[in-house]
Amino acid sequence: MEPLYEGKAKRLYQTDEAEILRMEFKDEATAFNAEKKAVFESKGHLNKAITLLLYRMLEEKGVKTHLAADGDEVNLMVKKVEILMVEVIVRNVAAGSFSKRLGVAEGTPFKQPIVEFSYKSDELGDPLINDDYAREMGLATEAECAELKEKALIVNEVLKEFFLKVGLRLIDFKIEFGRLNSGEIVLADEVSPDTCRLWDVETGKKLDKDRFRQDLGNVMEGYQEVLRRIEESGELNS
Ligand code: UDP
Repeated sequence: MEPLYEGKAKRLYQTDEAEILRMEFKDEATAFNAEKKAVFESKGHLNKAITLLLYRMLEEKGVKTHLAADGDEVNLMVKKVEILMVEVIVRNVAAGSFSKRLGVAEGTPFKQPIVEFSYKSDELGDPLINDDYAREMGLATEAECAELKEKALIVNEVLKEFFLKVGLRLIDFKIEFGRLNSGEIVLADEVSPDTCRLWDVETGKKLDKDRFRQDLGNVMEGYQEVLRRIEESGELNS
């Protein structure tokens, strides 16, 4: 069956139910706007399992997502949404492009989280934008930008607190939002070590995609460790 959509890390398929799609997590990994590529056996499964548990936890805390049901090893069933072409990044600690662009040492904590928007465009390399750009580009209205920021900060608080309980520091993350048929804006796409920076509280060890980006080795061991801690948190009824 042909996917409705294929991205760098996932494929979306139509199901028999018009409003439900199957989201398949691939083993392929890309970094630096797909300049660097690799395949990691079990990445699809690990990111699927982590996204599922985090979405369930977020739902329990009142954050709406597009999750419909678990699928299988590498698939989640999700509600069909229209993805907003704005990526929302939340930063608690300086890292990655922030450190590079502004010359702020990686690991410098922020007093308050920073919310950033980028235009979801592989062709342009997801350029940084602001509310005015989003409005003029027709990506989101001013009110929607405010809503995205508010929702992203709630997601940050819930995730930050949850990860801290399992000994992980949430450094930063990228999320996407989608519009349901009803018009409601919900969290969509994935929340995984591909899209979050997670450092061990005790040792500072990186357990996320930076292991791939920076050639630190043991990439999937990092993801597996994140899943193990989430599963053993005892907070989630799966
Ligand atoms: N991120 C992502 N997809 C992107 C860009 C960023 O998932 O296309 C995540 C990234 O993993 C990190 C956070 O968003 O957790 C902030 O990334 P940053 O802007 O520092 O960019 P990067 O260093 O990944 O180029």
